[in-house]
Parts: sequence; structure tokens; C-alpha cells
Amino acid sequence: MANIVAIVGRPNVGKSTLFNRLVERRKAIMDDESGVTRDRHYGYAEWTGKHFTVVDTGGYVTGSEDKFESEIRKQVEIALEECTAAIFMVDTHSGLTDLDKDFANVLRASKKPVFLVANKADTTERIHESVEFYELGMGEVYPVSAATGSGTGELLDKVVAEF
Ligand code: GDP
Ligand code: MG
Repeated sequence: MANIVAIVGRPNVGKSTLFNRLVERRKAIMDDESGVTRDRHYGYAEWTGKHFTVVDTGGYVTGSEDKFESEIRKQVEIALEECTAAIFMVDTHSGLTDLDKDFANVLRASKKPVFLVANKADTTERIHESVEFYELGMGEVYPVSAATGSGTGELLDKVVAEF
């Protein structure tokens, strides 16, 4: 079975930046159904000789406040269903937001391994600030900079260890 790593989280945290850094080659778009599945991109990646598919998700939430939970739940459930492991991305630049907490609430129920990744940790100061995400209660926080690639090696070592 092919291993699949899904990147989930709210918009603008840097999911697509990490996706573009990881993938060597994009997969042809699959036949496509709902808005949620349309808003997904697949690519091939390799780390330390292990090959896997990466899924970039949109993270968009539309509609009224009370729809947030159900829309996030739908996106996360599709991602979790198909993945071997998930990367839950948050942003050290903006800090912890209510939408991050909504994603965390849904992801907490996951039976798949979830890696909490604090992106935009471009400086030592930001790396230190990433400890605030321990508040989510999702285990270890992995500070990375998707822009420069720093921290992504340590993260990927842990992710591919799940395969
Ligand atoms: P997505 O909506 O989660 O897919 O986020 P994008 O990948 O589109 O990135 C949103 C914005 O954050 C863009 O302006 C990126 O250039 C910026 N960004 C992404 N990763 C980093 C990073 O590691 N450091 C910094 N400083 N900016 C980043
Ligand atoms: Mg994106």
C-alpha cells in the first residue's frame, strides 16, 4: 500500500509552501466530485529512500460561524481517511487562533498519527515561540520553516518512521 501524508490546517499557515517543497512530481488530478475533494492536490515525494504521496488541502471554511465545525470535520475526515499520517500545520507568525483550535478538536479524535507542525519558525525567536502550541494538547510541536526548509528534515524523519 502506498503511504499518504496529508497536510491540514487553516488557510495561510503555509501548507502549499511545504507541499511544493516536498513534492518532486505532481500526480494527475483524480476524477473529482465535491468542493472539498476538488480543493486537494496530490504529489509524489521521497525522504531517506521512502516514497510517499503528499496531499495538500485547502483548509477553507465558508459559511456562518456555526458551520465551521462541520466543514472542518468534513475536510479533516476525508484527509484522515485516506492518509497514513497527517501534518497539522499552524503558524508561529500569527500564533494560536480559534480556527486552529477547531481543527485540533477534530484531529484529536484521529487514530492516525498527527504531527503538529509550527511553520514560519524562520528565526530562533520564532522557534522558541512555537512552544505556545503545546497548549493544543496534541503532543510534540515540530517548528519548521517551509520557506527555507529548516526543521523539515527532523519532521520527515519522524513521519516516515510511521510507514
Ligand atoms: P496555505 O494557505 O496554508 O497553503 O499557505 P501558503 O503556502 O499559501 O502560504 C501562505 C503565506 O505564508 C505565503 O505568503 C507564504 O509565502 C508564506 N509562508 C509559507 N511558509 C513560510 C515560512 O516558512 N516562513 C515565512 N516567513 N512565510 C511563509
Ligand atoms: Mg494552500
